[in-house]
Amino acid sequence: MSAGILSLRGRVVIVGAGAAGLMTALELAPRPVVVLSKGPLGAESSTLWAQGGLAAAIGANDSPALHAADTLAAGDGLSDAAIVDQFTRAAPAAILRLARLGVRFDRASDGGFALGLEAAHTCARVVHAGGDGAGRELMRALAVAARATPSIDILEGFEARRLIVEDHTIRGLLAVGPAGPALLAANRVMIATGGIGGLFEESTNPLGSFGQGVALAARAGAALADMEFVQFHPTALDVARRPMPLVSEAVRGAGATLIDETGQRFMLDTPGSELAPRDVVARAIWRQRSQGHRVFLDARKAIGTQFAARFPIIWAACREAGVDPAREPIPVKPAEHYHMGGVAADAQGRGSVEGLWVAGEAASTGLHGANRLASNSLTEAAVFGAIIARSIEGAPTRSPAPLRSFTAPPAPDPAAVLPILSRAAGVLREGDALRAAVGPLAALARSAGPAADPALVALAIVVSALRREASIGAHCRLDFPERPAKPCRSRLTLNEALAEAAAIAPDILAKRA
Ligand SMILES: Cc1cc2nc3c(=O)[nH]c(=O)nc-3n(C[C@H](O)[C@H](O)[C@H](O)COP(=O)(O)OP(=O)(O)OC[C@H]3O[C@@H](n4cnc5c(N)ncnc54)[C@H](O)[C@@H]3O)c2cc1C
Repeated sequence: MSAGILSLRGRVVIVGAGAAGLMTALELAPRPVVVLSKGPLGAESSTLWAQGGLAAAIGANDSPALHAADTLAAGDGLSDAAIVDQFTRAAPAAILRLARLGVRFDRASDGGFALGLEAAHTCARVVHAGGDGAGRELMRALAVAARATPSIDILEGFEARRLIVEDHTIRGLLAVGPAGPALLAANRVMIATGGIGGLFEESTNPLGSFGQGVALAARAGAALADMEFVQFHPTALDVARRPMPLVSEAVRGAGATLIDETGQRFMLDTPGSELAPRDVVARAIWRQRSQGHRVFLDARKAIGTQFAARFPIIWAACREAGVDPAREPIPVKPAEHYHMGGVAADAQGRGSVEGLWVAGEAASTGLHGANRLASNSLTEAAVFGAIIARSIEGAPTRSPAPLRSFTAPPAPDPAAVLPILSRAAGVLREGDALRAAVGPLAALARSAGPAADPALVALAIVVSALRREASIGAHCRLDFPERPAKPCRSRLTLNEALAEAAAIAPDILAKRA
């Protein structure tokens, strides 16, 4: 079906209505904005599911410099130090801004913010809400604020399917809404479509998080960055459910320990023990499991009967799985959780195509390096919301050019990609498995079928993982265990990924052409 054309009269278009999309829309007010949400507001959004909270140097013994040092250390030498500095300095004000917008953070007895300790943070600096319900509270408050802001129009049930680009400049986008396809003429578009967990068999993300914004940007010619860096959370609840419930780092922060089925702690010899960075803990658990052990998080002694009160959402997920965390260890295993890579963005959140901005988990600014520090991503959404709003306001405005009609591609479906990507690009990687995934993914990416966009994102991950012949942060190559001599970020375009695929798997691609 070809699309009708919607006139937006020069309004900014934001694709995605999680923390990143809504914060930017609120920061842009009273400038008129249209926000596209592919489901009902808040649904299919990782923001809603966040448990631990938001990191910021607010505590008496903390400072942006300490927060920056922890962020850089977790990022394993790959973070952009200037972006980290910009972020950690702006973080405390972003938390105050959220509180002013109506987010009800948990408070200490003196009325200040209650601060939690999480893995790889040197001090307690995570503001939280409702115990382990930070995401739910954040989403509630942002949705109320956005709905009450007259300059923000939220189009629910609108899925962006293509960016329209001429002369390397954004001209609009093609979306499919409840009444069918629609063309939106716009020359300022921000992508805030969240993560990629829906491309993996085992993930903590909403199933609809499968990197649509990354595919939109890549097809529009924008550069991607650090695509190989996929964070696996060490402690997803080990149940046969998709997506897998998360057992937040805050539980280990409260003293829970990792044990095997014999009760043996296996992290004691690792620096930081259970509170080592996520990639380190995920690999340790992965290795235990590949030696035939089961792994559990033991909260009996440290939290015990306080569990239900302190972590009500995790407690409910455990109870649903038949586990009582106050009395028995919680079975856990690593699962895809966060993407450090994404659409390459500069310090103002600008993509490499004129008129394109990108925020939140879909963006790769270099803040997280090779491994994100826990609870930095919601703060990132708030910090960059303000930065991007100023950047958009400062950009020259042009009347959108008239658009010709386009035909909408089919609704994307990642099902065919899951087994290929999960086998190739898990916690531990190896060249042969990565190479074997390239041909099938490239063939799907070049098709016009529903797997094309998800396969394109998966292909970029696999090609980037192959190119990086070293191990750093969350990217661990069994065939290249050494750290790179000079860690540097990676960049890739769709054309480069397809050219590399044609060189690696010429037979498969020729057969399917
Ligand atoms: C279980 C869990 C717990 C977490 N806990 C924490 C935590 O405690 N602290 C922390 O900092 N981080 C945490 N994270 C990570 C954090 O929640 C996410 O990185 C962050 O919420 C991403 O925000 P976002 O706005 O970029 O994306 P999302 O919140 O995922 O929002 C993306 C939005 O884009 C929409 N969308 C996608 N594609 C399209 C399309 N084509 N057209 C229109 N709309 C589209 C989606 O429907 C959704 O509304 C957690 C993540 C998970 C999964």
